[in-house]
Amino acid sequence: MSEHRPETRTVHLPHPVLEGSKPITVPLYQTSGFVFDDPAVFADGMGRPDGAFVYGRLSNPTVRSMEDAVAGLEGGVGAVATSSGMGAINSVLLGLLKPGDHMIAQRAVYGGTAAMLADLAARFGIEVTHVPENDPEAARAAVRPQTRLLYLETIANPMTQVADLPGMCAVAREAGLISVVDNTFASPLLCRPLEHGADIVVHSTTKYLSGHTDVLGGVAVFADEALHRKVWSFAIELGATADPFAAWLTLRGMQTLHLRMERHCSNTRILATRLAEHPAVDVVHWPGLPSHPSYEVAARVLPDFGGVFSFDLAGGRAAGEKFMGAVRLALLAPSLGGVETLILHPATTSHRSLDAEALARHGIGEGTVRVAVGIEHVEDLWADFEQALA
Ligand SMILES: *Cc1c(COP(=O)(O)O)cnc(C)c1O
Repeated sequence: MSEHRPETRTVHLPHPVLEGSKPITVPLYQTSGFVFDDPAVFADGMGRPDGAFVYGRLSNPTVRSMEDAVAGLEGGVGAVATSSGMGAINSVLLGLLKPGDHMIAQRAVYGGTAAMLADLAARFGIEVTHVPENDPEAARAAVRPQTRLLYLETIANPMTQVADLPGMCAVAREAGLISVVDNTFASPLLCRPLEHGADIVVHSTTKYLSGHTDVLGGVAVFADEALHRKVWSFAIELGATADPFAAWLTLRGMQTLHLRMERHCSNTRILATRLAEHPAVDVVHWPGLPSHPSYEVAARVLPDFGGVFSFDLAGGRAAGEKFMGAVRLALLAPSLGGVETLILHPATTSHRSLDAEALARHGIGEGTVRVAVGIEHVEDLWADFEQALA
């Protein structure tokens, strides 16, 4: 190389050569493509997903590590990492369904997913029937000859309904449907839907898996290799695959997932329990409370109940808005699953596209406040909530 001119030497940088040691952390392969010594290996890599790394949209070693890490936690055979949670959901739905197909989805789904399902019907001719998340009989009754897929969420936003995964996935299996579960709110530490009979798990890794509010990403995990191949092929055509830096940040976050989840859950239990007894609060929605409609299903499916809850203030919308303006430590912001406690008012933010009737159908009140509990000291959070309620 040294015989080349400076302009050429600045372009062709020396690569590190490691002997006798290797990095402790997973290296960030921030490259869009790979160099080959052997043209035959190049050709072979283009032809299959598990050959040599060729081009970043198809696969990347850092991204592969993250896919393997999540697949390992969920008990799947493989995963496809995507540029966002919606990228994973769309890769799965569009990669597996075609015009004329029918699918069944639980009634309360994430806002972006709800918009996507409406679009599938309007623009792609893929009809969707909504059923309650805990009613296998209703799901069975909704099956048609064209039905291909059942879509569920382990814990729904923002009222935290818990899906009866064993019951619902059994119906899907009987009817030959592919069952897909959005496991974002539970994380693989609280629930592994494949163990309950699901075929595909999707996550917004933007949330608990990365955990630090600094990255957008998604992942789909598969129980079988044929589904993995099919969705991978479509995701690379769609261009929804993950950037290596996003995958690297997610891997870095995942190393503390178990510690964070423990604290998210224990903080939430304390705040939800205390708020439920507070005179200014009408009702708290968290599946760990016996008053929650999902309490019994949740006790069967989850060892603990997650870090998101909602509550309705006795004073309705006005009280809700006043509370939002009065908190000092909790941050007024979208998203969840990060280390900071975030609150929002679903009726005017995440669910603003719903009219009063649709809000009621989702069980969301005008004054409902959603809390995504962080990992701060719980007494500091409680002090903040108490002063805001006062
Ligand atoms: C955030 C979220 C999504 C969408 O993920 P993005 O990373 O924002 O695209 C999907 N499902 C659930 C349950 C979510 O919380």
